[in-house]
Amino acid sequence: MNVHEYQGKEILRRYGVATPQGVPCFSVADADDAARRLGGKAWVVKAQIHAGGRGKGGGVKVAKTLAEVHDAAEKILGMTLITHQTGPQGRLVKRLLVEEGANIERELYVGMVVDRSSQRVTLMASSEGGMDIEEVAARTPEKIYKVAIDPGMGLTAAQADDMARKIGMPDASIGEARRFMQGLYQAFEECDASLAEINPLILTADGRVLALDAKLNFDDNALFRHPDIVAMRDLDEEDPAEVEASRFDLSYISLGGNIGCLVNGAGLAMATMDAIKLFGAEPANFLDVGGGATAQKVTEAFKLMLKNPAVKGILVNIFGGIMRCDTIAQGVIAAAREVNLSVPLVVRMKGTNEELGRELLRASGLPIISADNMADAARKIVAAVAGK
Ligand code: GDP
Ligand code: MN
Repeated sequence: MNVHEYQGKEILRRYGVATPQGVPCFSVADADDAARRLGGKAWVVKAQIHAGGRGKGGGVKVAKTLAEVHDAAEKILGMTLITHQTGPQGRLVKRLLVEEGANIERELYVGMVVDRSSQRVTLMASSEGGMDIEEVAARTPEKIYKVAIDPGMGLTAAQADDMARKIGMPDASIGEARRFMQGLYQAFEECDASLAEINPLILTADGRVLALDAKLNFDDNALFRHPDIVAMRDLDEEDPAEVEASRFDLSYISLGGNIGCLVNGAGLAMATMDAIKLFGAEPANFLDVGGGATAQKVTEAFKLMLKNPAVKGILVNIFGGIMRCDTIAQGVIAAAREVNLSVPLVVRMKGTNEELGRELLRASGLPIISADNMADAARKIVAAVAGK
């Protein structure tokens, strides 16, 4: 799960990570008010969307007067912000963060991820922070330093200080940088984050270390431990089909192709997508209905796939273990009738009650194409969609 920058900063402050003062805003009047309350001589008005690259896309504006805050808020709120992470359709801005302006001396970078190969949380840092960290990683990867954190020890003072020196932190700010990185690790660990990225981490002219930006991702499987973080979820920022899917406990990911896939089991779902690609087409989605799907759940899954206008055919690939093939067949038939299915449908079922399942499909009189194995199923749906 993702949260907005202002929410990420709110969480980080609880762990002693320093950030500028700021106020989330939902209207231009809110922004006027926030700037007045924050006081000072400069403000930053920042679009809050779940995507990075806002600065380059015009979603971050520095204002020197209250009138400039007003103008910036008017421009950014309601704009469709396009960045390298939003895709060409962009994202509608519905929230702002108005912050006190920071006096930036240097822009640095600090990130944390779970590194699967070392099985540790890894701290990454670089002196080259700002808007082009991807460039730095691609062209001069030696400028990004990494250290693996022992879960028993946490991020040690020695590790933090060493990292602070490597990224050019002046001696007078090493202590603050250490507290910053240790606080970040504590937040990461206690909140079950999967990614934390502070870009830029800034050094101010008076030697302070602040998170000017914050991107936090959380492990969905641990969210049950963090109701306060779940409360920060912004459904406007998520794919509507994926939100709908989560209501029915379906694992659904929208993809770019035109063949809808309905499968039980994540591994089988991935293999099904590979098979579609092997025969020259592209899957429209990943969809795992899970092990204990009911006929109703299968119906919901069908409706969900068909909401995508790009879908020109559906491939159902089921392995009946605990799940019985006749249950799936009943769901498929009910769904096909309910949605008035008008695209080709190929069904491949193996396992418990497969004969019974096939018989139900045959007897339904619906134009369902049966397949014996995965290759056969993929070949048939690709051919049917191509009109062959
Ligand atoms: P991103 O582009 O989505 O990553 O948004 P950031 O929050 O990282 O902001 C982009 C850039 O805006 C930063 O790298 C800074 O250069 C600039 N910026 C953000 N806040 C301030 C500020 O308080 N003062 C100044 N002068 N620049 C800022
Ligand atoms: Mn940034």
